[in-house]
Amino acid sequence: MTSCEDNYLSIAIPTPLRQMFDYLPPDNQANLQPGMRVQVPFGPRKLIGIIEAIKSDSDYPREKLKKISAVPDQAPLIPEDIMQLCRWASSYYHYSLGETLLQALPKTLRQGKPATREKVAVWSTSSPLDESVTASLKRAPKQLKALQWLNDYPDGLSEPELREVGFSKTILTQLQKKERVQVREIERVDRLFTEYDNPVRQPSLTLNPEQAFALDGILESPSFHPILLDGVTGSGKTEVYLQAIEATLKAGKQALVLVPEIGLTPQTVKRFRSRFSVPVACLHSGLSDGERLQGWLAASRATAGVLIATRSGIFSPLPKLGLIIVDEEHDNSYKQQDTLRYNARDLAIYRAKIANCPIVLGSATPSLETLVNARKGRFSHLEIKRRAGHARPPTLELLDIRQQTLHEGFAQSLIKRMTSTLDKGEQVMVFLNRRGYAPSLICHDCGEVADCPHCDAHLTLHRMPPHMHCHHCDYQTAIPWSCPKCQSKRLQPVGQGTERCEQVLEQMFPKTPLIRVDRDSTRRKNALSEILETVHTGEPCILLGTQMLAKGHHFPDVTLVAIVNADSGLFSSDFRGLEKTGQLILQVAGRAGRDKKPGHVIIQTHNPQHPALQMLASQQYSRFADSLLNERKQLKLPPEGYLALFRTESPIESTGENLLKNIRNLLLNQQQDSSVRVLGPIPAPMEKRQGRYRYQLFLQSYQRTSLHRMLDSAVKHLDSLKLPKGLRWTLDVDPQEM
Ligand code: ADP
Ligand code: ZN
Ligand code: ZN
Repeated sequence: MTSCEDNYLSIAIPTPLRQMFDYLPPDNQANLQPGMRVQVPFGPRKLIGIIEAIKSDSDYPREKLKKISAVPDQAPLIPEDIMQLCRWASSYYHYSLGETLLQALPKTLRQGKPATREKVAVWSTSSPLDESVTASLKRAPKQLKALQWLNDYPDGLSEPELREVGFSKTILTQLQKKERVQVREIERVDRLFTEYDNPVRQPSLTLNPEQAFALDGILESPSFHPILLDGVTGSGKTEVYLQAIEATLKAGKQALVLVPEIGLTPQTVKRFRSRFSVPVACLHSGLSDGERLQGWLAASRATAGVLIATRSGIFSPLPKLGLIIVDEEHDNSYKQQDTLRYNARDLAIYRAKIANCPIVLGSATPSLETLVNARKGRFSHLEIKRRAGHARPPTLELLDIRQQTLHEGFAQSLIKRMTSTLDKGEQVMVFLNRRGYAPSLICHDCGEVADCPHCDAHLTLHRMPPHMHCHHCDYQTAIPWSCPKCQSKRLQPVGQGTERCEQVLEQMFPKTPLIRVDRDSTRRKNALSEILETVHTGEPCILLGTQMLAKGHHFPDVTLVAIVNADSGLFSSDFRGLEKTGQLILQVAGRAGRDKKPGHVIIQTHNPQHPALQMLASQQYSRFADSLLNERKQLKLPPEGYLALFRTESPIESTGENLLKNIRNLLLNQQQDSSVRVLGPIPAPMEKRQGRYRYQLFLQSYQRTSLHRMLDSAVKHLDSLKLPKGLRWTLDVDPQEM
């Protein structure tokens, strides 16, 4: 498309204003196309925007319009399909199209930096790996592993690629000193993934009948068909994905694999990289901005055949997209909780429709939304009921801890079982979903609890390093010496977090290595993969951690899983609370006995009669889901109805509530449609957070279109108001958390 000098450009600009802005093309600029980046004058600033459309007229006289100041790229960065996806997301989530389009780009491109493949440091072996080399590295197993890995890549590997599979720069420099590896700065050659002779490096496993049936279901047709792959933990879903991707690559198409935030483990990346010889690009939060750009470019220029990404990867261009996989589709991290509040799983379905390709939603504990879609026949439902290979299902046991003497939270019989498991040379995993030392610090003399000054929340006591920490706003302060109210020095930690549990277990099992995995112990880059090294040696150890341990990991030697406290999630005020708890319990339980040795799971509870816990303990997820669905049906809650939530935040208590009342009255006055219920405003579950008062207003309906019509008019009204200082409102469509 060549631009005519007298055309107008409609430009998407990252502002909350729900409109496009008209500009004139610069002089002598041929070949402008929608999706291209531009730099434009906007008030006193220059901003990066995207050409949304090229038009032959404008509502403004030509002389009033400004010219584009620069066009940084030769070609569009946002292709037509991503444009369409963003338009849909912008309208469904009622969010500005300008901001939606810009957030679809990696940060450096949003900032106006060039979209170029950089020179990268590439490591490769100096000489072929033979027995003498192997023998010389006997004492340095990690270095040997790195060398073996590099040996498979004649073109070499970059530092981020090596880091993603667990090899740090230190290991590489050690090998360099021994002259085993060399490093070169090279321009990445842009070889298309389709130019590889064979996209596959490693032979695949022979599928069992259930897996084979699932694979057939996926490959049945190359056009759009959504599939729920409902396979118990350890049933070999990943192997099915790998083989479906193999077929996709062989057909000259790319695959997009979405994984939860904490599911993108070095192990996962390694598994994909070892299977395929075509480049596997990654996009996740552990990468630097520059590395993310490189991954994004590899995907969008089709030099990578596979993209593994966390939720934002749904916006990556893949010109040859032929398959989408959403692993652990029930996972909360697919929902973005700020700015554009999208659900990447839902966008993935729309994207597969645009690309006209199959999409697989995989889980051992599918979300109720997806189960309903499968039951109504919108998705095909493929099940894998048995674990793959030699693994058997774990046994689950509810351990009634009522009236029992607990030793620092552990029942006697649990400690016994842990001891005998370790004595057999096997590994134990202890699950406790609370980081820090203790969730609160209380004064023994007057009962005063240390609270966050900015939130309606207690401060968590941390010992390493010692401080008080608010997990909601990140406020940190020193541990008090005495009670601020009565000056007593008798301050006591109450409850148990992972740090305290670590201390307790170290005392109970002084000879056993203890590995703690939570957000604090894994803050450093690479930390998780280094920490998990010990587990993968197979030596007896105790693995203690939060939900970071629940997903994606495959620890063949863990045979006992202990859930210290299953009760906290049973009585949540959030209507999804029980669903999430059930999924978490089964996912954690699913870490036990994933290989030849059978697994056992002990769930400590004060509520052994709780019907939900009983269904979970007998591993009847589908019955558990049915009972939840019944409840939702009666209350017309998702997935049996649709929800949207207006939230306000303000430093002044009344302004948010007043704004929401105003919206409610507006909606009730103009409402001809009785299918939408308006509830609230009510204070948010944590009314004060980060020094701001929070309120919410619910809209509930069993008809999506009526709901969205009301949202449209509410948003239009809100946009027209001049809000009091400091007051902010947001809209969350299909909210995950209330
Ligand atoms: P999931 O993704 O369902 O949790 P995985 O794909 O990680 O399960 O498989 C669990 C284990 O079973 C892995 O070690 C995998 O190599 C193995 N496995 C998967 N499929 C087969 C198969 N057909 N034959 C033998 N082992 C298999
Ligand atoms: Zn006190
Ligand atoms: Zn706080």
